[in-house]
Amino acid sequence: MKIFGKFGTPKNLVIVNDRGLFPTRNFQGGVFDGIGKVNAMEQQRRVLRKLTCHACPAACGNLTRAAQGPYEGIETEGPEYETFWAFGAQCGNSCLDAIIAADRLCDQLGLDTISTGSTIAFAMECTERGLIGPEELEGLDLKFGNHEAMVAMIRRIGYREGLGDLLAEGVRRAAQGIGKGSADFAMHVKGLELAAYGPRGAKGMGIEYATSPRGGCHERGLISRETFGAPPPIDPLSIKGKGIAAKEAQDETAVLDSLGICVFPPHNDGMDMAETAGLFSRVIGEVFGPEDLLKAGERIWNLERLFNLREGFGRRDDTLPPRLLHEPMPEGPAKGHIVELDQLLEDYYKVRAWDERGVPTPEKLDELGLSAEGKISLSSP
Ligand code: SF4
Repeated sequence: MKIFGKFGTPKNLVIVNDRGLFPTRNFQGGVFDGIGKVNAMEQQRRVLRKLTCHACPAACGNLTRAAQGPYEGIETEGPEYETFWAFGAQCGNSCLDAIIAADRLCDQLGLDTISTGSTIAFAMECTERGLIGPEELEGLDLKFGNHEAMVAMIRRIGYREGLGDLLAEGVRRAAQGIGKGSADFAMHVKGLELAAYGPRGAKGMGIEYATSPRGGCHERGLISRETFGAPPPIDPLSIKGKGIAAKEAQDETAVLDSLGICVFPPHNDGMDMAETAGLFSRVIGEVFGPEDLLKAGERIWNLERLFNLREGFGRRDDTLPPRLLHEPMPEGPAKGHIVELDQLLEDYYKVRAWDERGVPTPEKLDELGLSAEGKISLSSP
């Protein structure tokens, strides 16, 4: 936690890049050649002071000021790991000060940095493939690595000007608007842009992205075990045991989110469910064991699944962009790998006691107290 407190989430940049699962240029690769200029140590040269949530001993936030060029003097809270990536490797940009400026601009415009950066990266690939022309770009040279065009496009998205009006809808709708096969490299799940962990280099992340109720979300923490050595560690490139690992990570995170606890201490410092249950019991004044909390997490996850099923989502939506399923990783430690999603999902559904359509079985719903007649209750020892 000391290291995490000093550097914050950007400490992950070099680790993920070294493991070869750092999505680069719209997920075309997994190793960023600009990592030497865009990393936590370089950020530290620009940090003005630490920032923190209330009373947190870790204080993982950073107030950062751009040092050079057209962005000199711009200050931002961050950038966090994902923002470093979205406006860095994902857009092929190795100018850290441009990332600081992009982060600040997104905050001012109310834009999510992952979705904005990824949508611009998608447009960059479309430009390089000739699917977007000069008339749509209105003077911008939107190629990978052109940070000035990247920052200008953020503004156009915010004000919905020109091509920015379409890109403001996100990757899925942008691909529908542009057509010409661009959906094959539109990097989203259920309409939400993917984050900074490439699942060809960490197969469990393929399950996480595919089955998250809100789309391509990375916040269930399986990456801590696949890449950052959280116990018990698992081989990122293997598909073995990933169903149960994904379930455990999802159930645990549902608990932490429901308790309003930051996920970083559990993910970075080994604070386990027994310790969490102990804290919860002291606050509530009743004794809860870790198994009670995990059962609650499983119940939440199944309830969210039922919500999505009711709204028309099903197995066909538990998928990944074609690039990850059919294009082998071209470089780095994950070279040659794709995501074997059918096998991963089969294992995961079985572990969850969902049928082959991804529907929870009546027995599982009974067990969780979620069947029509069931009562929802927490058992305490
Ligand atoms: S609560 Fe979490 S996000 Fe906030 S400063 Fe502490 S470790 Fe960082």
